[in-house]
Amino acid sequence: MSSPVWHPFTQHGLEEPIPLIARGEGAVLWTADGRRIIDAISSWWVTSHGHAHPRIAAAIAEQAQRLDQVIFAGWTHEPAERLARELLELLPQGLTRVFFSDSGSTAVEVALKMALGFWHNRGEPRHRILVLEHSYHGDTIGAMSVGARGVFNQAYAPLLFEVGTIPFPSVGREQATLDALDAACCAEACAAFLVEPLVLGAGGMLMYPAQVLTEMRAICARHGVLFIADEVMTGWGRTGTLLACEQAGVIPDLLCLAKGLTGGSLPLAVTLASEAIFAAHWSRDRALQFFHSSSYTANPIACAAALANLAIWREEPVRERIATLATRQAAGLARLAQVAGIANPRQAGTIIAVDLGSDGAGYLSDLAPRLLARFRERDLLLRPLGNTVYVMPPYCISADDLATVHDAIAEEARALA
Ligand SMILES: *Cc1c(COP(=O)(O)O)cnc(C)c1O
Repeated sequence: MSSPVWHPFTQHGLEEPIPLIARGEGAVLWTADGRRIIDAISSWWVTSHGHAHPRIAAAIAEQAQRLDQVIFAGWTHEPAERLARELLELLPQGLTRVFFSDSGSTAVEVALKMALGFWHNRGEPRHRILVLEHSYHGDTIGAMSVGARGVFNQAYAPLLFEVGTIPFPSVGREQATLDALDAACCAEACAAFLVEPLVLGAGGMLMYPAQVLTEMRAICARHGVLFIADEVMTGWGRTGTLLACEQAGVIPDLLCLAKGLTGGSLPLAVTLASEAIFAAHWSRDRALQFFHSSSYTANPIACAAALANLAIWREEPVRERIATLATRQAAGLARLAQVAGIANPRQAGTIIAVDLGSDGAGYLSDLAPRLLARFRERDLLLRPLGNTVYVMPPYCISADDLATVHDAIAEEARALA
């Protein structure tokens, strides 16, 4: 019998092979039948220090034997308390409260609910959310609502709420973006602007300058519109700094982190909030509390994994690894830029992206799955977004493995040109 597993973002009717992964170490995955796969996308942007990092694995094992789970509404535990304090020490000043959830999508939903709760509890019920064109914030109903509309969510469109969309600040169009944001912030009942700082991931690794982020933040501040940074992908060093917001000197009102929070080992997310947002929910009146939870909120084992991640950031040369990777990626990108059939070479820290083949290949064009299959045959885990191929590996990837990835992209581009 074929497997009963229903995979995400997978058309089972195409009967494409689904490799069975048995083991991971560093930037490498091993299939059950012994193939060595280079993980060039950090297993969907989560694995930062490499697979099965001994320190994270040990922290998980230790915590699992001490306290596996406890209700978090009205109860607490040491790993969550420590993690919240250590996060605030590590992250830029200005955010003072830490709310736990389980995924990037829920971190975003929590941020949206906090934003609306803030306005509601202040007796000024604003509800309109502004977003950037091409953005992606997750796959739950609320997160889809604030993401780009397309084939991904067409069937569910009747369930999605309306948002205001600001044009993406493409090169030469930055001022149009800022003007549109300024105008949209004046509209009635505007509650918050939600944005992926510096890089729009699932939207096609679209990048924009830090200066635009700085100015977008200033516009929101001027209008009293809450600024929500979704750093679910960009956080934990991907863009060269711990947070992408740092490069723009931006402190958001709400900050969403997930993916690399546990080094990519276990699902855990946080939404960090400013004191003003917390204060708007602080009262003797239960009706004004923040109404959100899930069964595993602040799961102790996941918190222990995140604490190990923070220890790695403090005690291992993570920033040096990131700088080295960024330099190697820049060199690889410079070579790729010379290859016929490669367009729009771009980089943000440890991430590089290029476009292959003809322009405008949508998500369902057969280019992406064809490339995916070709890379899989080469024992590479790369997953193009439409005609965009990007490389976002764990920071520990070797120079040789990274060069193998760059060479494969060049060869596939030449084959297509
Ligand atoms: C992946 C991602 C999400 C959703 O995170 P999940 O953990 O997959 O729910 C949200 N925002 C951004 C920017 C992402 O890249």
